[in-house]
Amino acid sequence: MHRRIVLKSAAALGLMSGLGSFGLSAFAAGKIKPGSKAALIVVDVQNCFLDGGTLAVKGGNEVIPVINTLAPAFENIVVTQDWHTAGHASFASTYSGKKPFETTKLSYGTQVLWPDHCVQGTEDAALGKELKVPTAQLIIRKGFHKEMDS
Ligand SMILES: [Zn+2]
Repeated sequence: MHRRIVLKSAAALGLMSGLGSFGLSAFAAGKIKPGSKAALIVVDVQNCFLDGGTLAVKGGNEVIPVINTLAPAFENIVVTQDWHTAGHASFASTYSGKKPFETTKLSYGTQVLWPDHCVQGTEDAALGKELKVPTAQLIIRKGFHKEMDS
């Protein structure tokens, strides 16, 4: 599942390079206005995946100013959070002798084992402090089944 973190960052950087400063400024100036059926989906912009987090994505913080620029243009904003239980099946610390980034077999197949991250209710699982999405209507939390990554 965390392969998507890399893809997400790549997508964010692609968005920045694709839009360029003109595109972002056009959003900021209201020249580009997504329709009422468009949604901005903000995926896992949580302390755990940001710089200094327990499963940090290198350069992860770079996505925040992009989101903050885009968000005011959208009527619909959805936010997701990785939201694991303590002792989660995807955590290496759950298994004696296992280290992060090794694998194990679970009922649904091979599971990469992660460092403990994004544990429900912790500061690590909180949305990034600099993130400004006050009009987000929906938060989707996943990874909360203790025995399944997501
Ligand atoms: Zn996770």
